[in-house]
This record gives sequence, structure tokens and C-alpha cells, in this order.
Amino acid sequence: MMNQKILKTWIQEIRLLVSLEKVSLKKHCILRMRQRGISTDEFKDAMSHPKIVEYYKDDYPLPSALILGFTALGRPLHAVVALDQGSGILWIITLYEPTIEQWDEKFKKGGNDMDCPLCKGKMEMGTTILPFGMKNGRVIVVQNVPAKVCEQCGEEYVDMDVARNVESLLNRLERDGLSMGFVEYGVAA
Ligand SMILES: [Zn+2]
Repeated sequence: MMNQKILKTWIQEIRLLVSLEKVSLKKHCILRMRQRGISTDEFKDAMSHPKIVEYYKDDYPLPSALILGFTALGRPLHAVVALDQGSGILWIITLYEPTIEQWDEKFKKGGNDMDCPLCKGKMEMGTTILPFGMKNGRVIVVQNVPAKVCEQCGEEYVDMDVARNVESLLNRLERDGLSMGFVEYGVAA
């Protein structure tokens, strides 16, 4: 059961923080917005009239909620947000457009083999890109790293054996003196 009073306070707080732009987005959300053609203004628009779909008051370290908003063009956006009343920041943990199935199922847990732990979307095997900041501001980008990718919010997860391969690849590159450039996971692993 959602406590109506808490919900009302939350909606007020979210609207206030959004209007003041006291909002911090996870890096992944920025990349995703660009991919999906969601502008910052559209996002702000949608988050200005939030509806709370689910509320996780016992989340640690901050209470969080799944909110729904509509852009000026009527595009629905879901966001999982964490509200930090102490420092006055609205953290955006994940952001996506809800899929048709989700509207129908109303977030009932489906019989899927793997659900995204952030949005309960379907996870599929894919690849990701891992940029590592090295010393002196240099960057090594490992491409085509196998990953589980959420088809809805786009969040990516890398299995431990793959992470270990990436680690030894980076160690090897560092030993060889490479501190900048692009490497293919498949070729090097
Ligand atoms: Zn997801």
C-alpha cells in the first residue's frame, strides 16, 4: 500500500528539485537519452508532472521510486529516481520509455528467464564498450565486450569471467606501455 501523504510529499519534492534543476543523471541515462532522441528539456518536462507508479521507501541508502511523466508531445517516460532530501538532489538512476507489455502487465513479474534489476525489462545478450581512464588522462576503450543488455532501459551488465578477461587484457596493455587507444575484446581475450 502506498501512503498517500508520503506520495504527495514526494511529488512536491520532485517537482521542486526538477524546477530548480537539482537533478543528477547517471552517466548511462545521458548516453541513453541521446540514443533515443530524448532532449534534456523533454526530460525535464516529463519529470515536472510526475506520477508515482511504485515507491520503495525501504531502499538503502535512499528511498527510491518509479515515476511516470509525459513530455509535451505526449511521450511517456519512466524513471527510477532516488530522493536525497538531505542534500536536495534528485538522482536519476534509470530512464526509459515503457513498453506496451509493461503497460499491460502493470509490472507483474513475468515468466522471463532474466529481468533487468533496475526496470524489469527483458535482458538480452549483446555487447558493450568499456572506456577506462588511465593515468595522465589517457583512455583505453575496450570494444565488443559481451554483456547482458536490457532491451528497455539499455543498462548493461558484464559477467565476472568477462570482467576477468578485460582485467588481464588491461594489465597486459599497461605492461606493453599502451595507455591510449581502442582494443577489441574478442581479439585480445
Ligand atoms: Zn532495464
